[in-house]
Amino acid sequence: MALTTCKECSAEISDSAATCPRCGVASPGGSCSILLSRAKNLAGRLHPCEVYLDGVLRAELVPGGSIGIETGAGAFHLDVVMTLPTMTKSLTDTLNLLPKQEARYEIRYGSWGGYKLVRVA
Ligand SMILES: [Zn+2]
Repeated sequence: MALTTCKECSAEISDSAATCPRCGVASPGGSCSILLSRAKNLAGRLHPCEVYLDGVLRAELVPGGSIGIETGAGAFHLDVVMTLPTMTKSLTDTLNLLPKQEARYEIRYGSWGGYKLVRVA
């Protein structure tokens, strides 16, 4: 556990604190972002995929599109669910974000014909 300063009141806080113990601001170490982009060449072009963070729907991702989710620091479970006419495909990852960190993912079409969730940064 490392220490950082609150973005609002400059108190010394844990970099994993969800709220500042002095002023109560959320994500006192600075917000993080999770960026996802989806390749255009995936099958199921008309079907958005739903992006869940810790089980909560946060965004829909269209083919060729990209989205960003703002969040605090901490550990998260990422779920990307594609609903196709013949199946539902779920791509998952767990990540641990430090304050102000930016995680980038790409949804790609695998050479074996499946979908892959690839962390690129
Ligand atoms: Zn504070």
